[in-house]
Amino acid sequence: MRAVVFEDFKTFPVLKDIEKPTPGPGEVLLKVAGAGACHSDVAIFQDFEANNPAGLKPGFVLGHENSGWIEEVGPGVTGFNKGEAYLVYGPIGCGRCRACSRGQDTYCLNAATNPYMGIGLGRNGGMAEYVTLPARNLVPLGDADPVAAAPLSDAGLTPYHAIKLALPKLNGGGKFALVIGLGGLGLVGVQILKALTGATIIATDSKPEAMAEAEMIGALTVPAGPDQVAKIREITGGNGVDAAFDFVGITPTITTAMQSMALMGRCTVVGIAGQPYDWSFFSAPYEVELTSTYWGTIEDLYDVVALYKSGLVVPQFTAYPMDQALEAYQLLVDGKVAGRAVVTP
Ligand code: NAD
Ligand code: ZN
Repeated sequence: MRAVVFEDFKTFPVLKDIEKPTPGPGEVLLKVAGAGACHSDVAIFQDFEANNPAGLKPGFVLGHENSGWIEEVGPGVTGFNKGEAYLVYGPIGCGRCRACSRGQDTYCLNAATNPYMGIGLGRNGGMAEYVTLPARNLVPLGDADPVAAAPLSDAGLTPYHAIKLALPKLNGGGKFALVIGLGGLGLVGVQILKALTGATIIATDSKPEAMAEAEMIGALTVPAGPDQVAKIREITGGNGVDAAFDFVGITPTITTAMQSMALMGRCTVVGIAGQPYDWSFFSAPYEVELTSTYWGTIEDLYDVVALYKSGLVVPQFTAYPMDQALEAYQLLVDGKVAGRAVVTP
């Protein structure tokens, strides 16, 4: 079968033929419907080195954002039928610690000794015709379209988890949320904020087309520039935003977010650029929280699927056949993808 393989650091992935996998005990074989191209993959093959913070080693099929149809089940697996559509929960923890027991494999207490982080992250992922994965990582889609659902597995789940934790700051009338970076994750993030809160959403991106997309789904936009923070604060009546979500994570975007915060607000950095921010007691209003976040829980993913089925959260995407999977990644590298690029093997 054909697959997009991450072969080495600082090296563009390759499309090649590999053996079709067989599901092991407790696993299923999924015929892939959609595999989203995430900017984290770009970080892996373009920016990461041998001593990367995720501990990843090259030599696996990319694709940690997947959906598909049951093709075959492995030994001991019951309750799944060929052809049923599922969304994949990508993280894989040890499955037996306190964090994994609450469906939060992302924060597995045995992460340091696990063989991989997840599907398409150290273990073969879904940028292939087939993928094997633990049956416990499947979330049923019923009769909902699995191709359009694929981005939800990360571009939906990650902003959902970040926003859910910030809800105490956004409940009630007259609240403001700021979204920086309107790509795969950010645009779904705007939809989730609309679905879950009554907050006024202020959004920004370096690309005017991305801001136009955000406006169409109900956000106010403020372009980058020396007066950006002043304009954001003006929209909030001078008070600042109650929650900010930075889907870029470089020093300038974290600084913009922190300078835009209201007293007691929460600023969540989702983008993994990993750049520093210089905090001091007087650099932000009192009790502003600055935090990071990583993906979400499998229970969150059930919530995201419910939002998708109700029509409240529907990712914007462009489908690419397997032949064009590498072009899709190149467009992502070049910043030319609107919403998500989904490879349909
Ligand atoms: P994307 O490429 O689809 O979108 C990024 C957007 O940010 C683009 O629209 C781009 O124009 C915009 N942008 C870039 N620089 C900017 C700047 N200086 N100011 C304003 N906008 C800017 O990427 P994505 O797949 O949505 O991922 C976004 C980030 O989130 C990446 O860093 C990715 O690695 C990370 N990520 C984190 C998690 C997590 O669990 N924390 C999960 C998935 C992705
Ligand atoms: Zn991702």
